[in-house]
Amino acid sequence: AEGAAPIPVDKDKFKLGFIGAGNMAASIATGLVKLGILPHSRIFTAHRNPESRVAFTSLGIKVFQHNHEVVGECDVIVFSVKPQILQDVILELGPLLSQDKLLVSVAVAPKLKVLQKWVGHARLIRVFPSTACAVGEAAIAMHLGEDATEEDGELIANLFGAVGKVWKLEEKLSDAAGIIGGAGPAFVYIAIEAMADGGVAAGLPRDIALGFAAQAFYGAAAMVMKTGKHPGELKDKVASPGGTTIAGIHELEKGAFRATMMNAVVASTRRCHEMS
Ligand code: NAD
Repeated sequence: AEGAAPIPVDKDKFKLGFIGAGNMAASIATGLVKLGILPHSRIFTAHRNPESRVAFTSLGIKVFQHNHEVVGECDVIVFSVKPQILQDVILELGPLLSQDKLLVSVAVAPKLKVLQKWVGHARLIRVFPSTACAVGEAAIAMHLGEDATEEDGELIANLFGAVGKVWKLEEKLSDAAGIIGGAGPAFVYIAIEAMADGGVAAGLPRDIALGFAAQAFYGAAAMVMKTGKHPGELKDKVASPGGTTIAGIHELEKGAFRATMMNAVVASTRRCHEMS
């Protein structure tokens, strides 16, 4: 209702509903339940296909038949369907998506302005999570719609803060940041796999190569975050004159590793804008 203050969400009692029981929703739900942030009894979804159902039922989460049952039951609704079908899903739910519900979209597109038009109000929050929510380590960008209250923002920041690190950003920054947080892990999976392949090529058994490669990324990320040092400085420290590391770095530079990584982020962000 225009002008009426939205009903505040009770942070100790609210129920969380996912519309779209896919990978992203399952990752968030898994993180929330496994890390003890929300009991399974306060999370709901509805299923489309039997496979995606399992991720939720195995956590003890109630899976309804229909989206409207999720909306009826819950105070906070997370839209986690593919961007291409989001409009149909929202329009089908119509007036059920009143301003008394706090609505969250984790879809990579569209922008808040468009979502606002579809739902008819702006008590909306856009969040860019990643499947790393399942292990509590996602990099998450978020921004608030005009009618989302400060408390709404806090609630969602706390909820997602439990499954990752949250940055509240302006909308114009959140696309590129969200891409690094959401698609970036896929780039890194490839890099880890490639590093392990190198280990295998150099004679290591696959499992040892993979374990070392993954730990190398984990350790490097921890060094950047915990020492606060510039990655260039950290790199310089491990590259001794005429040594082994600089020989490998030379190959990375010849293969345009930096430009390729930059291009990947720019291309994904451009695609995100095209879809918005
Ligand atoms: P997904 O295909 O795994 O999940 C979508 C789910 O929606 C499927 O389970 C599908 O059965 C279900 N669905 C289809 N039609 C439906 C309908 N009408 N009503 C209810 N459910 C329906 O995709 P995903 O990777 O989980 O992505 C979901 C959203 O999350 C996307 O909008 C994507 O942009 C966003 N996202 C994903 C990631 C990621 O890492 N996967 C990261 C950031 C954002």
